[in-house]
Amino acid sequence: MRERILITLGSNIHPEQNIPAAIRALRRHPHITLVRVSHTYRSAAVGGSGEQPEFHNAAAEIEAAIEPAQLRRELRQIEAQLGRKRTSDKYAPRPIDLDIAMIGERVLEVDGHPIPDPEIARFPHLVLPLADIAPEWRHPILGISLRQIAAEMHYTDKEISKIMSSSPKTFQDNGHYASEAIFDAEFGEVYDPEFEALVTDMLVRLGEDPEREGLRRTPLRVAKALDFLTVGYTTSLEKVVNNAIFEDACSDMVVVKDIEFYSMCEHHMLPFFGKAHVAYIPNGKIIGLSKVARVVDMFARRLQVQERLTAQVADTLMEILEARGVAVVMEAGHLCMMMRGVQKQNSSTVTSAMRGSFREDARTRGEFLELVRN
Ligand code: ZN
Repeated sequence: MRERILITLGSNIHPEQNIPAAIRALRRHPHITLVRVSHTYRSAAVGGSGEQPEFHNAAAEIEAAIEPAQLRRELRQIEAQLGRKRTSDKYAPRPIDLDIAMIGERVLEVDGHPIPDPEIARFPHLVLPLADIAPEWRHPILGISLRQIAAEMHYTDKEISKIMSSSPKTFQDNGHYASEAIFDAEFGEVYDPEFEALVTDMLVRLGEDPEREGLRRTPLRVAKALDFLTVGYTTSLEKVVNNAIFEDACSDMVVVKDIEFYSMCEHHMLPFFGKAHVAYIPNGKIIGLSKVARVVDMFARRLQVQERLTAQVADTLMEILEARGVAVVMEAGHLCMMMRGVQKQNSSTVTSAMRGSFREDARTRGEFLELVRN
């Protein structure tokens, strides 16, 4: 059973880089599904000498396919990864803080740490971001909502304030990434500085002026877009299928036609896109139809060749369904061919992968191909 979990993020060393980097790491984590991210808040360090740099804090709502104790270890792992990156800094690298704030409305201990995190009811820099994304969540010990806890906090605008360039983002909507959260480039936002620097170099190499108005946020947008378009590398099958395989005695062919997909060719890093048609003959298990499209997405969102993409979808469905047979046909236009005029612009490439009874039985195969043709 997947539970919704709230986590808090905090950083006071390069927070404008580390908070986004931590969010990216969460989004790309194979066992974590990022649902929502709060505004970012800046605040003076709590209990510090006054010399400490200000903190940035945010909160995220996630789903995890792992136990809380393991999730905690995975969060420590992300902290270590971010800490290790900043070695040339003359200030000692300080890991970002990633803590589990709430696990649904449960009261428990994870590795000796109480959940809900007692600090969330004490500090505005923790509860304000949480209340952004989960205002109605009820604190199981205090018996009031996060919105109410936030409303009762006393603080001044000087002590804590919202960073106006950041807005809450919803990453998942009906199991799909909400694309606007990925592609919108907000003023002042930092996403992946190293990647953005590479894109800036590329613009210069192309003879462009990266400082001109239209290009100023292009490196950020490209970094986000490529991150999203290759998210399949770090998407786990478990996360995609998400318990949507059911026992069923049906043994008739199941066909899902016209699944739109978008991928990028590995030779030119240019898009190819089109439609996938998928069929299988169950052998005791069926899968939610929308999940078939998500399996296609999972393999399409990488650098690909169409032949391999087709085979991966077929082999994966064969494996998880233990089906009698799986058939996949993909038709796509490749921009690397169309834009460069290598082939006629309206040509499409068709690939197919037949497994099990679709390979062995010409009648079954014929029936599928006939259904797909119409
Ligand atoms: Zn190509």
